[in-house]
Amino acid sequence: MDIYEALSTYFGYEEFKTGQEKLIKGSLQGRDVLGIMPTGGGKSLCYQLPAILLEGITIVISPLISLMKDQVDSLNEMGIPGTYINSTLEDEEFRKRLEAIRGGKYKIVYVAPERLNTYLFSNLIRDIEVSMVAIDEAHCISQWGHDFRPSYLEIPRFINSIGNRPAVSAYTATATKEVIGEIKELIGLRNPLESIIGFDRPNLFYKVVKASNKYAYLKEYLENNFQGESGIIYCATRKTVEALAKRLNEEGLPAVGYHGGMAGELRQENQDRFIFNGTKIIVATNAFGMGIDKPDVRFVIHYNMPKNMESYYQEAGRAGRDGEPSDCILLYSPADIVKQKLIIQNSTLSLERETNLYENLQYLVDYCHTNKCLRNAILSYFGEEPENDECNNCGNCLDKSEMVDITIEAQKILSCIYRVGQRYGTNIVVQVLRGSRNKRVLEAGLDKVSTYGIMKEYSESVLKEIVMTLVSMDYIRMTADRFPVLKLTSLSGPVLKGEIKVYHKKDLLEVKAPMKKVEKAVVDDFDEELFSLLRELRYNISRDKGLPPYVVFHDSTLKEMAAYFPQDKEAFLDIKGVGLKKYENYGEEFIGVIKDYIMEKGVDNIRPREREWIEKPTGKTNTNRYQLTYDCYNQGLSLQEIADERNFTTGTIIKHLERCESDGQTVQWSRFIDDPMKESKILEAIARVGLEKLRPIKEELPEDISYDDIKLVILNNGLK
Ligand code: ADP
Repeated sequence: MDIYEALSTYFGYEEFKTGQEKLIKGSLQGRDVLGIMPTGGGKSLCYQLPAILLEGITIVISPLISLMKDQVDSLNEMGIPGTYINSTLEDEEFRKRLEAIRGGKYKIVYVAPERLNTYLFSNLIRDIEVSMVAIDEAHCISQWGHDFRPSYLEIPRFINSIGNRPAVSAYTATATKEVIGEIKELIGLRNPLESIIGFDRPNLFYKVVKASNKYAYLKEYLENNFQGESGIIYCATRKTVEALAKRLNEEGLPAVGYHGGMAGELRQENQDRFIFNGTKIIVATNAFGMGIDKPDVRFVIHYNMPKNMESYYQEAGRAGRDGEPSDCILLYSPADIVKQKLIIQNSTLSLERETNLYENLQYLVDYCHTNKCLRNAILSYFGEEPENDECNNCGNCLDKSEMVDITIEAQKILSCIYRVGQRYGTNIVVQVLRGSRNKRVLEAGLDKVSTYGIMKEYSESVLKEIVMTLVSMDYIRMTADRFPVLKLTSLSGPVLKGEIKVYHKKDLLEVKAPMKKVEKAVVDDFDEELFSLLRELRYNISRDKGLPPYVVFHDSTLKEMAAYFPQDKEAFLDIKGVGLKKYENYGEEFIGVIKDYIMEKGVDNIRPREREWIEKPTGKTNTNRYQLTYDCYNQGLSLQEIADERNFTTGTIIKHLERCESDGQTVQWSRFIDDPMKESKILEAIARVGLEKLRPIKEELPEDISYDDIKLVILNNGLK
C-alpha cells in the first residue's frame, strides 16, 4: 500500500496537508524528523500513517494520559490497531496489554513518559521490533517552553536503550528558537528532516477587547455568537473559574468549570461533559486543554490575559482545529498585567529567566495595544514575515473606526518621561501628568517638573492606554524589570519634534461586539435539517460506544453528507473524513438516514461532490456564489425561481441571502412571505415554544408550513 492509498483507506482523506507528505516520507525512509506545525496542522497523521506501513511497532510518547484513550479509540475506529500504556491501567490489564504487544497485536503503542524506563516496559522493548519512536508535544522537554515536563527528560535514555536505534520523530506546535534548539539537542535527533509550517491559522479570527465590564461583554457575546456550539473561556485563577461558571449557569448559560484544584473525579466529569457535547461551554484555568483534541471548538475567550504570547497562541489555538471559522478573543484589563507581574515577582527564578518572562509578557501587552493587524503581530512573534499589512480577519483589520491624531498627547507624555529623568514607571508618569498629590510624587519633588498636571483632563485609564500604545509603537521603551521603567527611544525625538505623527483609534475604551467576516473552510451549503438528523445518529452511536462524537465523525464530515446526500458505498467513501473502516462500521446507518430523508422530503436536486471547489474554497468563489444568488434576487425572482436558476434548494438560497444581508446588502424577506396568516401562526408558535430549535416550532404548525416558511418569518422579524 502506498501512502496515498493509506491516507484514503484509513483516514478518508485524498490530499495531505502542508508538510505532512515530506515528514511521512522521511519517517518511512528511516530518518529522524522534526515537525513544527500549528495546532490543527495534522501532526498525528504524520506518525500514524508511517506506523501502519512500517514493519514493526511505533511507540508514541505523549504527555497527557487523559487523551490517550481518545487517540487510541480514534485509531481503532479507523481500523488501525493501537493501544496505550499508562498509570490508569490496573495491573492485570497492564500485563495483558504487554502480552498482546509482544504477540504483535498492535502497530501503535501510546505510552506516558513516566513509563518508558520502568522495568516491565524496558523488558518489553527488548522483545519487540520498534520501528519508530514518535514524540508528541516535544516542546515538553524544553525548560524554555511553557509546558516543561521533567519526565520528558527520560526520553533520550529510553531511545538509547533500544538496541537497534529506531527512527525518531518529534512534533510540536511551539516554535521559538530556544525551544527548537533544546528539542533537537536534548532528544538527540540525528540530522533531522525538518518541516516548519507557517504559523498562520487563517480560520481563526483574533480580537482584543478592552471591555469596561467584561462579564457584560461575555454574556452578550455568548448570547449572540455560535449558539449551541462549543467554546472555552480561560480565566487566570481557580476562584474566577468557580465564580464565572456559577454566574453563567445562574443566568441561563450552561457551563462547566475546570481547574487543578477540583476533585479529580469532578474535573474528569466536567471535561467529559464538554468533550461529549453535553455542556457546550467550559470555564477553565490553563490546566485545561493541553492535548484536548476536540476539533469543533468555535471560540476561545480569554477572560484574563495569559502569561505570554506563546501560551496565548497555544490556548487560543484550541479553537477551530477542524479549519472552520472560529473566534479567539482576548478580554484585556490592565489589572491582568499586574497579576501576571506579581506571579513573576513571586517566583524564585534566576534574573535572566525573570527578564525573559517580563519580555514575553510585554509582547502580549503590546499585542493588546497595537492598532495594527493582530495576526501579523502573532506571526512576527514566531519569526514569520507577514505577507500583507492587513489580514482582513482580525478585530483590528476589520475595525475601521476613525483614527485620531494623538501626536500632541504623545509629545506631552514623552516630554514628561524625559522630565522625570526616565526613572519612573507608568503609574508615576501618569500621576505626574494628571497632577496627582500622591505621596510618592510629592516626596520625589515631581510636582515641580514642567509637565506636572499638563494632562489633568484625561482619565488615568485613558492615559495608561496611550502610554501602552506608544510602547507598542516603539516610541517608548519599557524596561524588562520587576518594576518596568519608561525610557525614550530613538523614535521619541522625531515624535517630539513633530516629524512623526501618532494616531490611535477614536473609540479607545469602547466595548464592541465582535465582528466576523470569514470564509468557510468546509462546505457550507448543506441541509441543516439532515445535518441535525445525522448528528443525532452520531450522538446515539457515540453514547452507545462511549466515544466522543468526533471520534465517530467530525462535524465537517456530517456537513458534507448533508450537502451531497451519498447513497451508496462509492459516494459515501468520497466524503472527506470517511475511511474504509468507518464506512464498514457506520455507512449503512448513515446512508439509511440520508435515504429516508430524501424520500420524505422529495429531495431531487442532488449535487455531485465537486472536490476542487470544497478543498480550495477562496473568498472569490464564495463571494461570487452569494453574489450570483443576490443578482437573481435583484431581478425580482421568487424563492423557488432563484432556487431553480441557481440549482440549489430553497433552503440554501435563504442561507445565501442571509450571508448577503450580514455582508451589508439589503434583503427584503417579506417579499417571500405570501400569506400573512401563515406568518402570524408561525409567530404564535414561536411565542409558545421559543426559538432555540426549528423542529418544535414546526411540530406546532400545520403540515403545509415548511421549514423555509419558518425561517423566512424569523428573518423577516429580525428574530435572529
Ligand atoms: P494537531 O495535532 O497538529 O493539532 P491533528 O492531528 O489533531 O492536529 O489534526 C487536526 C485535524 O486535521 C484533525 O481533525 C484531522 O483529522 C485533520 N487532518 C489531518 N490530516 C488531514 C488531511 N490530510 N486532510 C484533511 N484533514 C486532515
